Amino acid sequence: MSDFYLFNTLTRTKEKFEPLEPPRVRMYCCGPTVYDYAHIGNYRTFVFSDLLRRSLLLHGFKVLEVMNITDVDDRTIDGAAKKGLELSAYTGPYIEAFFEDLRQLRIRQAEHYPRATEHIAEIIALVRRLEERGIAYRSGDSVYYRIGGFKNYGRLSRLDSSGIQAGARVEADNYDKENVRDFVLWKGGRDESVAWDSPWGRGRPGWHVECSAMSMKYLGETFDLHCGGVDLTFPHHENEIAQSEGATGKPLARFWVHAEHLLVDGQKMSKSLGNFYTFRDLKQQGHSASAIRYLLLGTHYRSQLNFTTEALHAAASAVGRLRDFHERLKICSPPPGAREEPALWCAQAFREALEDDLSISQALSALFDFVREVNRLIDLRTLSAESRARALEELRLCDSVLDVLEPDREEDEEFVRGVEALIEERNQARRSRDFGRADNIRAELDTRGVVLEDSPQGTRWKRKG
Ligand code: AMP
Ligand code: ZN
Repeated sequence: MSDFYLFNTLTRTKEKFEPLEPPRVRMYCCGPTVYDYAHIGNYRTFVFSDLLRRSLLLHGFKVLEVMNITDVDDRTIDGAAKKGLELSAYTGPYIEAFFEDLRQLRIRQAEHYPRATEHIAEIIALVRRLEERGIAYRSGDSVYYRIGGFKNYGRLSRLDSSGIQAGARVEADNYDKENVRDFVLWKGGRDESVAWDSPWGRGRPGWHVECSAMSMKYLGETFDLHCGGVDLTFPHHENEIAQSEGATGKPLARFWVHAEHLLVDGQKMSKSLGNFYTFRDLKQQGHSASAIRYLLLGTHYRSQLNFTTEALHAAASAVGRLRDFHERLKICSPPPGAREEPALWCAQAFREALEDDLSISQALSALFDFVREVNRLIDLRTLSAESRARALEELRLCDSVLDVLEPDREEDEEFVRGVEALIEERNQARRSRDFGRADNIRAELDTRGVVLEDSPQGTRWKRKG
């Protein structure tokens, strides 16, 4: 079996990845904050985690994945207050919308989607553990993490103390803390409407501690992979490490893998800059989910990706080429005596490229070289029946990662409507004994990969398999 390599932010090198308990990989991805619809920048990160998951599966690993839902923080609380809603009534529709977007983008379901508000007991237990170890301290109604109590602080982000200082300066006027660099674990006495009882009085968790508590609950104190967008490296992931390792004394995750940003005109796509599109916006503009998926997937995760409409059109035409090829391969019937097999296949090269730190461009170029070669043999009518069967299988393997061949549901509905309209037209032609017209329609349906079965009960259709 070949090896699987990933770039580990912890060591800043590409390293051979092996799970602690092969073949099962335990991975955690930081999920969305559900105060609004996620934008396609967010989805770049989630599509990346899907690519990682599917590449691990293609390699032969099994995957146990957890993605948290941040359903309590300043933004969700502010949003709920502005609308005069209970927190869960405010976040509920955004959580539903998130799952619907994941489904349409064909992002495989994680095994667990824990919500912060449903894990308050675990969060409190973790903060208590840190208190007992002298790494957390109470100040006023809140509890803070004492960065000076954890010697490895800054190891992931490699910020020297002046950098960390600069990062923390925004909060410098928070005089409850011993040190400006310390961060909050439990926010006491705030927002009475959104608060839980705790050993420190009523309050709510800080954001960073949610992920530490939930990742360890579902994946254990040490797991294999932790991923998210590159902006989370500091402070979020640095703080997750400090919290978990400060409490357990064990490494939290062995690999930290970060996806670069989606940009618009050279700037990070973000809500605060106002330069964002939601997935829904793009769908309304007529773009298909699979073109959006392909666009987000098609650039290496460690390179920034500039979003443009032209790039989205190019993605749609690449998906179209793959689908046309698939249809053509399904319906082509190799003539008797056709003996040739393609000079190159794609599944192995595709898999090996992904095993090399998810090198998607190489994977796609192996696939498109193959498409060209097989198309050539179909044109020449020399592709053998065995090669056709193997080509379909190779394509299926590549699509177990890409997942763009199956038409989008909406497109599929359009297809079915089109087929049914043609069948009705053919029936009318037959009733008026215009058999030439009826035959033409049958031929037209044949080119769409549809076969008809006439019987006294009527006409049935099916796709060529
Ligand atoms: P949030 O909902 O703000 O907690 O973010 C959810 C995920 O989206 C995090 O992993 C972020 O790093 C990621 N993210 C936010 N903006 C972008 C962007 N422009 N490109 C790629 N990932 C992003
Ligand atoms: Zn997180």
